[in-house]
Amino acid sequence: MKMFYVILIVAFNSFLLLKSQQSAVFVPEVSQKPFCKHGIEHLLASSPDIPLVKRPYDVLSMNIFMDWRTPLSAVDSVPNNKRTFKGITSLTVSNNATMLSSIVVDIGSLRIDSLFINNVYQSQSLPPKVGQEQTIPIPNPFQVNQPYTLRFHYTFVGTSNQGFFVYQKNRSVNMDQGVIDTLPAALCYTMSEPIFARDWTPCNDAPYDKFKSSISIRVPEGNLATSNGNQDSTLTHLEDNSLTFFYSDTTPIPTYLMVAVASKFAYWTDTYSRVTDTTIKVPVHYYAWERDVDGTQGRYNAKNAYKYMVKMMEDYSTILGEYPFNSYGMAVIQPFFYGGMEHQTMTTINRAWLLQDFYEGGIAHELMHHWTGDLVSCATWNDLWLNEGGASWGESLWEEAKSGNPFGGNTVMDDARRYYVSKKQVVAPIYGIPVDKLFQYTWITYSKASWIYHMMARHYGKEIFFPALQKYFQKYSYQSVTTEEFKNFFQNELTPNNVTTGVPYPISVNEFMDQWVYNAGHPTYDVNYKTIPKGTDTEVTVTLRQTQQGSGINNIFKAPVQILFSRLVGAEVTDTAVVTIYNEYRTQVEKFTLSFEPTNILFDPYVSLLHEVNEITTSISEVTQKNLQMEAFFDQNTLNISNITEGTLSIEIYTVNGERVSKYSSNVFNGNFTGTITNQPLSNGYYLVVARNNGVTTSIPMVMTK
Ligand SMILES: [Zn+2]
Repeated sequence: MKMFYVILIVAFNSFLLLKSQQSAVFVPEVSQKPFCKHGIEHLLASSPDIPLVKRPYDVLSMNIFMDWRTPLSAVDSVPNNKRTFKGITSLTVSNNATMLSSIVVDIGSLRIDSLFINNVYQSQSLPPKVGQEQTIPIPNPFQVNQPYTLRFHYTFVGTSNQGFFVYQKNRSVNMDQGVIDTLPAALCYTMSEPIFARDWTPCNDAPYDKFKSSISIRVPEGNLATSNGNQDSTLTHLEDNSLTFFYSDTTPIPTYLMVAVASKFAYWTDTYSRVTDTTIKVPVHYYAWERDVDGTQGRYNAKNAYKYMVKMMEDYSTILGEYPFNSYGMAVIQPFFYGGMEHQTMTTINRAWLLQDFYEGGIAHELMHHWTGDLVSCATWNDLWLNEGGASWGESLWEEAKSGNPFGGNTVMDDARRYYVSKKQVVAPIYGIPVDKLFQYTWITYSKASWIYHMMARHYGKEIFFPALQKYFQKYSYQSVTTEEFKNFFQNELTPNNVTTGVPYPISVNEFMDQWVYNAGHPTYDVNYKTIPKGTDTEVTVTLRQTQQGSGINNIFKAPVQILFSRLVGAEVTDTAVVTIYNEYRTQVEKFTLSFEPTNILFDPYVSLLHEVNEITTSISEVTQKNLQMEAFFDQNTLNISNITEGTLSIEIYTVNGERVSKYSSNVFNGNFTGTITNQPLSNGYYLVVARNNGVTTSIPMVMTK
């Protein structure tokens, strides 16, 4: 699932600072110590060995029929007598324990009208429902490996939009920029993640249980219905010209990925040719309202929004292993609380994503879920980060594939920014967020979780991590995994190992996961460096001190820390060197010999570590640069420089090899400066932005992507 952010993105296509405006108020993102302040909710680390609680049966298949003719006839309003439908669900199950005399299924607020077991009508009334669970007595208990079928005839009698959503024709909807429009047709859809499938069909509503499914939906004339898997057939009912659409999905699916959507949609297709065998064609099905298809009848333009769809499938298949399903598709809906939802082979997306290219990342996110989430699902909701972290990280893989930028660039930095900005609200481990907070604490379950994948790729080396990731997808294909299984798999695959540079990486996956996933927070550093001339060389002593503290937060984050040293002579960077420190202690001192005397340092130049720096001090002046002097940071692609004093401000941009590629200077007053970087084209990659003002120098890394 992708949350719905309304953020204006200005792309860094090039640079030269054009806009010079001094603003009085801003909040530096990287200089605050948020832990243990009042008002921060600390959730303690969950035990990593929370058992996976399974019901004593497996669902082998689900066959669902729903008659949506009544809700789809709603016009102008949806009274309760329109918010109802009848359904028939067959659950074929197999017991894991002998001779169960009853089993429990989830039924939400559905009304069970009648029940058949192996086609035998069950005349005895069911025991009272407990919460959302219904106990089903099994009069003739079955053996293990003796599958049997429960067939529920039920009525949906919901009074609100939960699990099953109804929006009437002519309902007013917010378009962009405050324009109010009305829905061209009634719309019905299901939206189940995490635990709302039970509100539209009886089921075992848990992500570990995957099964084969078929869903059929009866709709009034003129409507199209779509669902997971293949459309097998369509039946026209002569008495009222209504239609029943039959779908089946032969690949295992959990309840939360099942979907049904229906409205008076337009429909068209595209084709993906498998990268592993281009003779195999995979259909891509699109559903949207007619006037949204190509942008000629308004601001929505589905064909533009989908223009990279097939290329995304090619790129992900190359990176992750072949696309694991036999079809893909997207159905556009509105209203929708979320941006998109990765329903297996038929993603649901918010109509707003048809507006502009910005939502391309969301379209990539939902496709990426077809590996992290659909092919390999979270076994419990404690493990949701595996899905959402993977899909959010997948957005950066798409950015890399499309732009050629090898660093994942803006996407991972955006995730870091979202995490830093929001982390003050709640400090909690990624693992074990309560199910009702999963889609609320998104800076943890999405943003920080994406950095788990990102850091694994960086720290262990892409050459090692990606083959291991492909193997992981193969091993757990069409299954569910717990965080422990993920950890154990990569512990075996990534030990021993090397980073890209060939240096042995000493931190085990077990340690990595314990500190980043099962515990909260991230490292914050105080950095000091001293230089001593040694002949023509310079001995550099770096002292790293981790300062993070708080309930559930690691005292020590073991991590590789990279530092870029550079020498500025006048306006030119004459030398650079990157050193890597394997930081294993809360305070650690390391010595290096450089062939030049550094004048500037840049922490984590390749954006490989989720961290904050409190302060950087030097032997030249033991003055905290952070609090007393000018500092620079990026906020939504705007360069912000604080604490400047009256005089000249110069800003230069260097490649990491020290080549200056742009220079700008301006007269400024006391205060802060913001600027947008635009104009002159640059190649993709990392750059160093160096700002100088009255003898004070500060620097900040910048990623260039196109
Ligand atoms: Zn998602």
